[in-house]
Amino acid sequence: MEWKAELQGIAKNSHSPASRLRFDEPLSKHTYFRIGGSATVYYEVGSIEDLIQVVAFKSRQLLPVVLIGRGSNFLVSDNGFEGIVIRLVGDFDRIRYEGEIVYAGGGVSQPKLAKSVASHGLSGLEFALGIPGSVGGAMIMNAGAWGNDFGEFVEQIRVMTDQGEILKLCHDQAGFAYRRSKLDNYFCVLDTSLRLVQGNPEEVTQLMREYYQRKIANQPFVEGSAGCMFKNPPNHSAGRLIEECRLKGTRIGDAEVSTMHGNFIVNHGKAKAKDVLELIDLIQNRVKAEKEIDLQMEVKLLGF
Ligand SMILES: Cc1cc2nc3c(=O)[nH]c(=O)nc-3n(C[C@H](O)[C@H](O)[C@H](O)COP(=O)(O)OP(=O)(O)OC[C@H]3O[C@@H](n4cnc5c(N)ncnc54)[C@H](O)[C@@H]3O)c2cc1C
Repeated sequence: MEWKAELQGIAKNSHSPASRLRFDEPLSKHTYFRIGGSATVYYEVGSIEDLIQVVAFKSRQLLPVVLIGRGSNFLVSDNGFEGIVIRLVGDFDRIRYEGEIVYAGGGVSQPKLAKSVASHGLSGLEFALGIPGSVGGAMIMNAGAWGNDFGEFVEQIRVMTDQGEILKLCHDQAGFAYRRSKLDNYFCVLDTSLRLVQGNPEEVTQLMREYYQRKIANQPFVEGSAGCMFKNPPNHSAGRLIEECRLKGTRIGDAEVSTMHGNFIVNHGKAKAKDVLELIDLIQNRVKAEKEIDLQMEVKLLGF
């Protein structure tokens, strides 16, 4: 296909040694659920220049393009995704400090950032060690735990528009709310700056470890999953509602409502996206029937 050759040409002339292009890449390799068919194109992009080339290419070819972080909040269709999946690497995987402000690229992993700021004695992100996403994903989802979320520390975010323009947004323009933001109106989150508080490295690390231990004691971290399937409805815990509806342990194929935490669906090895979707449906219907509450998805769907 002509467009594939054109894309190969763009990747060949890349500005970053980290950029890597692959065709028919199984997305099960790039999601925490370990579920999903192949993407037509999977492109690890290592520089802003390369990203601009992709934006220009997608506008010419009218191909669907989606950003993936660590794939820890995605359920990908068994049929995969007909389009280009982009992951930020290279220049986007950098962290730097100016006093109490940390600058992090969209491709940096959240646990790596949490550990790094703790070692600098900066307090704020202790909650983030147990969230296996990227900084880009954290901005889109306003990821959080233990009463904190990323949004509250954000000073500025740089995004790229569908036209390849780079914009600097302040905290209020990002529209952070519970597990969402308005940043998905843009093509890509490039990087962010977070204002933290100077603390003591040992104390920050200690608190971070405590949160992490409590998390792994209560949530399944061994099996594949996409974290919490549903958002907590106002004044309720989705996990508790699911447990009260006696759904823990309900299994379809290799997908199961975790026996450890009702709001997680886990993959015991060969689960299909369709098994997970059936479980989601069953959970939503049962919770609606017994509790008269509509559970809203937290996990994003791709390729359906
Ligand atoms: C075991 C486990 C525990 C978890 N615990 C928590 C928790 O405690 N709290 C919590 O909030 N979440 C939790 N999650 C969910 C998940 O880790 C977060 O939502 C995380 O922020 C997603 O980041 P990601 O990089 O994996 O994003 P992905 O899943 O790859 O993508 C999520 C969304 O962000 C978009 N996106 C990603 N990067 C970019 C970018 N650079 N530019 C534009 N769009 C982008 C994607 O297109 C998609 O819409 C957990 C998940 C797992 C598997």
